[in-house]
Order: sequence, then structure tokens, then C-alpha cells
Amino acid sequence: NLYNMVQDLKGNIRVYCRIRPSLSYEAKTVIDFVGDNGSLVILDPLKPQKDGRKVFQFNRVFGPAATQDEVFKDTQPLIRSVMDGYNVCIFAYGQTGSGKTHTMSGPSGGSMKDRGINYLALKDLFQLSNRRKDIINYDIHVQMVEIYNEQVRDLLTEDSSTTKLEIRSCTGDSGLSLPDATMHPVKSTTDVLNLMKLGEVNRVVSSTAINNSSSRSHSVLTVHVHGKDISGSALHSCLHLVDLAGSERVDKSEVTGDRLKEAQYINKSLSCLGDVITALAQKSSHIPYRNSKLTLLLQDSLGGHAKTLMFAHVSPEEDSFGETVSTLKFAQRVS
Ligand code: ADP
Ligand code: MG
Repeated sequence: NLYNMVQDLKGNIRVYCRIRPSLSYEAKTVIDFVGDNGSLVILDPLKPQKDGRKVFQFNRVFGPAATQDEVFKDTQPLIRSVMDGYNVCIFAYGQTGSGKTHTMSGPSGGSMKDRGINYLALKDLFQLSNRRKDIINYDIHVQMVEIYNEQVRDLLTEDSSTTKLEIRSCTGDSGLSLPDATMHPVKSTTDVLNLMKLGEVNRVVSSTAINNSSSRSHSVLTVHVHGKDISGSALHSCLHLVDLAGSERVDKSEVTGDRLKEAQYINKSLSCLGDVITALAQKSSHIPYRNSKLTLLLQDSLGGHAKTLMFAHVSPEEDSFGETVSTLKFAQRVS
């Protein structure tokens, strides 16, 4: 189809930017211009004249008024390609409070309005599976883990134990990089909602236990799709939906001990992710997957025929200008 052709021409990495609506009426915005063609202009509040304008270019930019459905519509073809055997990774990147969880999960509190990509993706996969049921039989399973301080933990077990999971870097017989994380069959959106609720609760419980906020860990929801067609040939592919830890820089003079260690782990894993995607975009012969747990875990779904989408989230308020620039630069580097 046309989308795949365009994808092949452009390579398999795309970057979308999403700007959250302003949370206060008083705050001034740094957003100067949002183009239909993926261009974005921001204005440095300290240099509002011409030299304070910074121009960025992405595959697409969603302004503050974009709805969840609009965002999903531009993500759907990528998600659907999972049903054709492609591995896909979708990342939400940005500082804490910029809207990552809103995009991936939706507003907290479990309201059905404004559900995010995680839910909409699974709903779409079920519909597609149903539509193709006479030719292909699909089985869909999910796993969900979080990575905190370079340790992987299962978010979908009832006992929510602190068992650290090993990553199988060279995928064995099972073809799974996390063979010990619980695997849950899902057949309906109700199954999905229940599991996501459990994952959300476990993420909050674990972050409270370490006296911290969930924005300091990466959460990874993995959808495994197995398909078998009437001739008996089979396919297995994965969709990884990743809500990354907040990308904000912490002031090293102000944090010490555990907070500093945590910040260093986050910085390191986000910069490793940037390095891997940049190396892939440049078709480099060495891809540094092994430098972080996140990239090691996603190794089979980054590069090769896999498709990657990065959402760069920014806050529009003036006091976020520094973080906004650093997010946009990161996103520009990987695109
Ligand atoms: P993050 O996960 O990056 O820390 P959140 O997704 O929690 O950020 O968003 C911060 C706040 O802004 C939340 O209250 C969220 O509901 C709100 N928010 C974020 N993006 C949007 C949006 N596109 N539309 C409306 N509210 C949003
Ligand atoms: Mg969040």
C-alpha cells in the first residue's frame, strides 16, 4: 500500500511532535508557528526578536488542539503493519508534565473519554483480526514491564513482587526477550482495560514504595501478535508502546544520593536510546544496543525491517523553554 511505499522511501524512523495545551491562562506560550508540513517555530522568551526564533522540522506536528483521535489516525497505519509481520516501537519522549502518559494511556482516573494509543491500538488490532478471520487466525498476548534504575520489573502480576527480570538478548526458542514476564492473552478491549488498570496500579505502588513518582521509570507495554493463515504459514511480530521516564535535566548541585543516581540512570538510558536510533538512521554498522536495558530489551524491534515512531512531547509555557529546546533537539537528532 501507499503508506508502506512512502515508509520505504523515507526509512523506518519517523518523529512526531506533540504540544500539550497550556495548563494556565496566564502563562505565555513559546509556540510561534505550527505548520501542516511538520514544521515548528518556537520563540525564546528572553530574545523575542528575530534571533530568538528557532525552527524545527518533523514528520508531523500536533498542536495543542489536536485530539487523541487525530493523533491515533496518523499512528494507525504503523500499528496495522504489526498484523503484516512488522515489529514496531512507539516511544513517548519529553519532560515530566509534557503529556507522554496522556498520549499513550489517556487521562488518569480511567475515564473512557480520550483513551490513548495503547487502548486504541489494541482495539484496532482486534477489529483487524476479526475482519481477516476467514484468512488468518490471530492470537494476541501482552506483557508490561517497567525499567527503573536499569532493573526490569513485571507490572502485570498480582503480587507485584520485586523480582528482577532478566533480558534474553539473543532470543532463544521462545523468541522472547523477557521470557519470565507474565504473558496475558487478550481477546477484547475489556481484557485490555483490566490489565492496564493492574499495570497502572503496580506502577504507582512501586513508585510510592521508593518514595518517588512514576515519571522516573520507563514503562513498556508489549503486544505479541501470532498469526497463522489457511496455508499454515505463521508470523510473529511485536508492538512495543513505551512511556519513557521524564527527560528533564536535574540540577546536580541540588540532588544527591538516590535521586542523583536515578537521574543518572535516566540520562544514560535516554541518551543510549538516542544513540541507537541515530545509528540506525545513519545506517551505521555498529548499533550500540547493549548500552542500556531499554535498547537491549527492544533490540529485535529496533532496526532491520522494524518501524520506529518517536513522539516528542513539549510543554508550551515559557518557563519550560529550556526543556522544550532540549526535547526538540533530541527529536531532531533522531529524525
Ligand atoms: P507526562 O506523562 O509527560 O508527565 P501527563 O500525560 O501526565 O505528562 O500530562 C500532564 C498533565 O497535562 C495531565 O494532567 C494531563 O491530563 C494533561 N495533558 C497532557 N496532554 C494533554 C492534552 N493533549 N490535552 C489535554 N490535557 C493534557
Ligand atoms: Mg507520565
